[in-house]
Amino acid sequence: MMVRRHRGRTPADGMTMRPPKSAEVLPSLLDGSDWPARILRGAPALLAYLDSEQRFVYANEAHLGWLGIDPQTLLGRRLIDVVGKRNHQLANAALERAYAGHTASYEGELYNGSERRYAHGNFQPDFDAAGRVCGIFTALVDITERRTLELRLHESEQRFFGAFQHAAIGMALVAPDSRWMRVNAALCTMLGYREDEFLSRTTRDITHPDDVATSDVLHVQMLDGELESCHLEKRYFHKNGTLVHAQLSVSLVRDDDGSPRYFVVQIQDITQRKAFEDALHRERELAEVTLRSIGDAVITTDPQLRITSLNPIAEAMTGWTHGEARGRPVEEIFQLFDAPQGQLVANPLRAAIGNNSIVDLAGRTLLRHRHGFDTPVEDSSAPIHDHAGNVIGGVLVFHDVSENRSLALKMIHLTQHDTLTGLPNRSQLHEHIGQALVTANKRQQRAALLHIDIDNFKQINEQHGHAAGDRVLRALTAQIQRCLPGDELLSRYGGDEFVLVLPHLDSVGEAASLAQTLINQAEQTRVDDLVDLSLRISIGISVYPDDADEPENLLQHAETALVAAKAQGQHGYRFFTASMSERAQARRRIQTALRQALSRHELSLYYQPKVDAGSGRVIGAEALLRWHVNGQELHTPDQFIPVAEDSGLILPIGAWVLRQACRQARLWQQRGCVLPVSVNVSPMQFQHADFYTWLDDVLAESGLDGRLLELELTERMVMSGGEATAGLLRRIQQRGVRLSLDDFGTGYCSLSYLKHFPIDALKIDRVFVRDITTDRDTATITRAIIAMARSLGKDVIAEGVETPEQGVFLREAGCSQLQGFLYGMPMPAAEFQQLLARTTPTP
Ligand code: C2E
Ligand code: MG
Ligand code: MG
Repeated sequence: MMVRRHRGRTPADGMTMRPPKSAEVLPSLLDGSDWPARILRGAPALLAYLDSEQRFVYANEAHLGWLGIDPQTLLGRRLIDVVGKRNHQLANAALERAYAGHTASYEGELYNGSERRYAHGNFQPDFDAAGRVCGIFTALVDITERRTLELRLHESEQRFFGAFQHAAIGMALVAPDSRWMRVNAALCTMLGYREDEFLSRTTRDITHPDDVATSDVLHVQMLDGELESCHLEKRYFHKNGTLVHAQLSVSLVRDDDGSPRYFVVQIQDITQRKAFEDALHRERELAEVTLRSIGDAVITTDPQLRITSLNPIAEAMTGWTHGEARGRPVEEIFQLFDAPQGQLVANPLRAAIGNNSIVDLAGRTLLRHRHGFDTPVEDSSAPIHDHAGNVIGGVLVFHDVSENRSLALKMIHLTQHDTLTGLPNRSQLHEHIGQALVTANKRQQRAALLHIDIDNFKQINEQHGHAAGDRVLRALTAQIQRCLPGDELLSRYGGDEFVLVLPHLDSVGEAASLAQTLINQAEQTRVDDLVDLSLRISIGISVYPDDADEPENLLQHAETALVAAKAQGQHGYRFFTASMSERAQARRRIQTALRQALSRHELSLYYQPKVDAGSGRVIGAEALLRWHVNGQELHTPDQFIPVAEDSGLILPIGAWVLRQACRQARLWQQRGCVLPVSVNVSPMQFQHADFYTWLDDVLAESGLDGRLLELELTERMVMSGGEATAGLLRRIQQRGVRLSLDDFGTGYCSLSYLKHFPIDALKIDRVFVRDITTDRDTATITRAIIAMARSLGKDVIAEGVETPEQGVFLREAGCSQLQGFLYGMPMPAAEFQQLLARTTPTP
């Protein structure tokens, strides 16, 4: 062992921990079996003493193991020469500090030859008698293993938080007291809060109040150790106030001692899925409600023709309840016989499913009720398909076609179809468009409306007469229908206008090419006695969803486009563009002007006489609203009342009408004419919670006897309201006020339903009255309506009576009151009073 002499300054004597004075004393220390020496030798640390010039004065045996250097060879060598520049530099700051008289430490890398180690070193200054630093004690512990573990831990933490931060779903650490501790980027995006905004909140702060209780229960169960982890759905509030439906997976991380540290929460946004689920649910509900309330009997089966459902009408007509029939073969429930021969008829649904097509059985088949009696039915059977087109069941739709029933059905058909062309009429159109839009939306396709109008149709009528005009309309209908191979729906919109609904388009170009085909084909329309007929049509097109997503708006836009096509010289088609929407602008203009109409006294009431069908005496008046500016009618009620309804202005206007009409009736009464006045009420007014109070106030304020007031409601208002409406109607009736159904026959047309409602009278709509003397079907239907209404104890009033023939017909059919231009136009109150004075001389 080579012993080097210590060349540095000798530390002063008298120190508590004195370093060995020279190499010569070392052997005794090293060899000795005394404890301090043994500890120095065996301590699992590099212990050394450096003199003031950083020369080794002492180094223990551990140096041999660690640096592979015999400690003896170190003595007298400078630290930097032994450990190298690199290591020296790393520890230098701590060394300098120790040489400056402070305890210092170093933790970090050190190089052991080529190997990189990690060490913790403590440096303790040694002072001489004068208090100067004369050397330092160094103790170095190799902490490489610990450090490696720490690093691994750190790395795995890093990996975790990297994954946490960048996870595609929302992730959070939540403290046991519900504070957000850490949130990832996806969660910030999902709920709209920045990270710092999260950290200043608790989970409860942004949870929907209705969901707090459920999460709290789970929270406590987890903290109590009853649950390891849990899954739940809840609603959070996005920072912008909207609701976010979320699905959560929660687990709890505990400390070694078992105390809860934090929850790890995974949060997935399921708002869209919820929306789909809700839509699906609503659709199912709707289908169910439709099935329950539909006028036809409906039976559904699985592909093996076992019953899956019966609606209430099917239950009544077969005698089987849904519960009893479920699972049984369709033949057992739905037995058909041939009417003339009485032979069993093969079940049409079997053929429908077998051939994958619709099978209709018209008339002449009898359905045998469970209790043996037969009902003549019409039936239509069809397979039901899934998305992929596989047959997943079948549906039977059938109805009773016995005499009464067929009349009623015909009536419904008549109100829904145009008698001239047999096409669905305007009243059906909205529904069809609505359905087309639902289909288009489901298939992610476009739909289009083509508003078709004949150019110069008036001339045809004038030159060749109305009968020829009718033939042209029929021929054109047939011509157009020949161009429609699929499920396009054509309806007559009125006069010479048709609307064609294209429920699914792959491109807008398809609508354009169909429009062009129609224009070309229309020219080929032939009508026997009109040899040189060259029929020209114009078409306006609107596209869903590009132009609008509501049936009403699409219709308006198609009409606007039609106007543009006409303005451009007719005989062509135009697509709607936003700049065309003048009609919309016109409505806005009406709305703006209407806001001031009341205060500017531009609105007034006209009164139209109602006469007794027997005596022809005036026995009532209908108040009709007029809008005049400078003596000119600005807009007709048909133009401005829909706008007033849309904008809510109908409420103040309607209230004014009611008050004004009551005052007028009271005035007439005071002048000796006791005459009931009828007031039209809009759905919005009637459905207002305060309607009854307003009515009561107006009656009280005007002093008018309730019996001198009649309210004209519409079918839709009454029928769609349910029990609450029936209650309101009864209260109104108890107040003495009469109730009548205006425009009867154009809406639901459900006479059987009507008997449940306390209505005094029906006003047959003028579309029926118009045709009663020219169209036999209309005459029959109108007679039937009047007879049925009277059998239910209702008065029947006819409106729109223009000719004496119509008057005679209606009186004979049983109408008690008549109204129309024949008996008097709507007129100002003063004029009406003169009329009264002339016709009913006061006693
Ligand atoms: P409505 O209640 O069915 O009123 C009858 C309409 O038929 C009136 O049109 C009337 O002028 C017209 N009319 C009367 N006799 C004949 C006739 O012989 N031939 C023809 N072709 N028409 C006749 P008006 O005044 O233009 O009112 C249209 C609709 O506007 C009314 O239909 C009613 O629904 C609504 N309306 C009118 N005034 C008010 C009101 O104060 N409030 C509400 N909510 N609606 C009103
Ligand atoms: Mg009316
Ligand atoms: Mg009417």
